[in-house]
Amino acid sequence: MHQNTLAQLAAALESRQISSVELTKLYLDRIARFDGRLNAFITVTEEQALAQAAEADRRIAEGRASVLTGIPIAHKDIFCTDGVKTSCGSRMLDNFIAPYDATVVARLKAAGVVMLGKTNMDEFAMGSSNETSFYGPVRNPWDTERVPGGSSGAVAACLAGAATGTDTGGSIRQPAALSGLTGLKPTYGRVSRYGMVAFASSLDQAGTLTRSAEDAALLLGAMAGMDARDSTSLDAAVPDYAAGLFEPRSSLTIGVPENFFEDGLDSENAAAVEAALKELEKIGATLKSVRLDSVHLSVAAYYVVAPAEASSNLSRFDGVRFGHRAEHATEQDLATFYKRNRAEGFGPEVKRRILTGTYVLSAGYYDAYYLQAQKVRRLIAQDFLRAFETVDLIAGPTTPTPAFRLGQKVDDPIAMYLNDIYTIGANLAGLPAMSIPCGFVGGLPVGLQLVAPHLGEPLLLKAAHHFQRETDWHRRVAPDYR
Ligand code: GLN
Repeated sequence: MHQNTLAQLAAALESRQISSVELTKLYLDRIARFDGRLNAFITVTEEQALAQAAEADRRIAEGRASVLTGIPIAHKDIFCTDGVKTSCGSRMLDNFIAPYDATVVARLKAAGVVMLGKTNMDEFAMGSSNETSFYGPVRNPWDTERVPGGSSGAVAACLAGAATGTDTGGSIRQPAALSGLTGLKPTYGRVSRYGMVAFASSLDQAGTLTRSAEDAALLLGAMAGMDARDSTSLDAAVPDYAAGLFEPRSSLTIGVPENFFEDGLDSENAAAVEAALKELEKIGATLKSVRLDSVHLSVAAYYVVAPAEASSNLSRFDGVRFGHRAEHATEQDLATFYKRNRAEGFGPEVKRRILTGTYVLSAGYYDAYYLQAQKVRRLIAQDFLRAFETVDLIAGPTTPTPAFRLGQKVDDPIAMYLNDIYTIGANLAGLPAMSIPCGFVGGLPVGLQLVAPHLGEPLLLKAAHHFQRETDWHRRVAPDYR
């Protein structure tokens, strides 16, 4: 049962094959059994989960259920959850109990989804491996000596039916690729950011980590839509993504960026992605080579823009309005008080971003770095828009290599940042993108990335769904967690 997709779990709940309480207990037992090794959860909300499950069972019995009612999932610990700790993977917020639910959490709660707990994550979502958390690194279920790439471990080890995630530069798609899951980052503004701790506000977007494209469609349908409390949320109707999957196939032209297959891509990773492209051709897609000439500048542009926004967003964590307060700090003068709170509360990667961000925004350097990066950002967006004049989707690798070893890149920020080369473009351009499992290299999962034009989620999900109907990579589960 724990290996089932949300669609299968929903069917089992509807036919009374299992109750939500039974299903929730099953996942809670698995968390108790396996999470000591994986460290995928920061908080497990057992009592609340069982109460929500009992309520879901009542709704199902009374015929008041939606398709997601009674399904246990986990939320990334970046989403505020009423009465439950929201740490963002940081010592700074280790003492923060959110007084309200993020819109994503509230909408899923209203649909009857059960929250199992909050997943571990890189501190303030800064990283590509899930090693910078104050609560320690997370391990990849496929090889516990390797990184999971982000907050995906819980789903990959079948400790939850699915999970929410956030993607500022790849943190939904990369963990999906490295852990064998389906990851969806929607169009910027498609899902409300209200109650999501801000990292880089012009790039952050909430999305899903699931076992299939169909599951992503089900969750997105419940999460998406205009929210008056997020001024950047899009006022566009939410289509029935799940129903759209089963519409007849129309012709599909997929652009393949030649330059994505040049330097830096592991050859075996490339072979798995190329085989997936052939598979897409077999199911009726036409492949067309495209060029995204500015994308090689995306890492440089992103690591100016994202830290700039982060340095501003993180200024609120000072031990007064929010965050960790150092012992005896109030006995000091005000400047020392702030410094001690922030020095103790933030880890090294977050400090590095704050320093970089403050520097690129400072007088004299703003024009040289921040403004230039914004111009490059525009060029990258134009590259994609030009490509979408002749193709419906763009496909390529999600990551340069499969999961790397814990500790391998954590002391080398540049090596870590270069991991984001294929994912960051979609964030800079605000485009929806997915990673879907497409093969294995040395027993480790590989992801295929698909990118669509703005609000192209229906087509994106449909293409991924058709691929998953013909392949079974997405059904594989790591041997120790079957
Ligand atoms: N790896 C990127 C960074 O470190 C993106 C992280 C994310 O998407 N949250 O900033």
